[in-house]
Amino acid sequence: MSYDKVALIGLGLIASSMYWAMKRAGMAAHVSGYARSSETRETARRIGLCDTVCDSAEEAVKDADLIVLAVPVGAMGRVAEAIAPHLKPGATVTDVGSVKKAVIDEVGPHIPEGVNFVPAHPMAGTEHSGPESGFASLYDNRWCLIVPHGASEEATAALETYWQALGANTQRMEPAHHDLVCAVVSHVPHLIAYTMVGVADDLRRVSDQEVIKFSAAGFRDFTRIAASDPTMWRDVFLTNKEASLEILGRFTEELFALQRAIRTGDGDTLFDYFTHTREIRRGIL
Ligand code: NAD
Repeated sequence: MSYDKVALIGLGLIASSMYWAMKRAGMAAHVSGYARSSETRETARRIGLCDTVCDSAEEAVKDADLIVLAVPVGAMGRVAEAIAPHLKPGATVTDVGSVKKAVIDEVGPHIPEGVNFVPAHPMAGTEHSGPESGFASLYDNRWCLIVPHGASEEATAALETYWQALGANTQRMEPAHHDLVCAVVSHVPHLIAYTMVGVADDLRRVSDQEVIKFSAAGFRDFTRIAASDPTMWRDVFLTNKEASLEILGRFTEELFALQRAIRTGDGDTLFDYFTHTREIRRGIL
């Protein structure tokens, strides 16, 4: 099953990349788009993002076979409530939110009978945001996690085929497991990157100019993701609280162990730890 009309709600990095990837794949679907800010809608019209840019979410979802919620996680529930009465029977609603348990709780209750809800999360992104940041190859060979939640097998399989056409590999996952995996591979690393920039900023004996000038020594690579959108990341931590706190607790324990090794001059512990973690890191391309 392919979709004749796709509605993108929210026109930032993730949705705009979906649009360009759809066009690259030659998908015939008509794509309508909506974003809350009129400035974003104007930009979308100017750069030709979407076949139709609508001035309301209700208008964008009219007759759509697939509706993609691509707004910050904290806004998903409100958007779902607004569009619910306008959904076509048999349509599929999906989202791209970075957290799944909270999105299911917030969006699920608004999905009318006869409409499928198939949550998803493309594991791809950059530190850039907004309608002009998207590009067609964002999803190439990246994973898109599909979190079926009571939807029909047909609707779930159709969404998998759709993401595969955008270039992604797909894997199904339970919501709680998804949130834990993402806390490890994405959420807490972002938090630590933000923190490292905060530490550098707070350290009065090292000037901002020195940080910028000498940042090639680890800081630049390590903190690239700290340039990411603050609304998105605020919502991620507010909604993935449990898993984030669990991983943050583990991280703090490891950090304290290394802190102790440094203080006591325990070179063996440091060497063994770095050797072990280097092996793991080298296995990641
Ligand atoms: P973005 O900031 O680039 O775009 C968000 C868009 O949503 C903007 O167009 C904004 O105007 C619009 N918006 C915000 N509130 C709205 C509302 N109430 N109604 C309608 N439009 C609204 O963000 P993004 O990076 O595209 O992220 C979108 C979603 O994708 C988020 O849920 C995020 O968790 C998820 N995600 C992001 C990444 C990433 O690396 N950026 C990766 C995977 C998933």
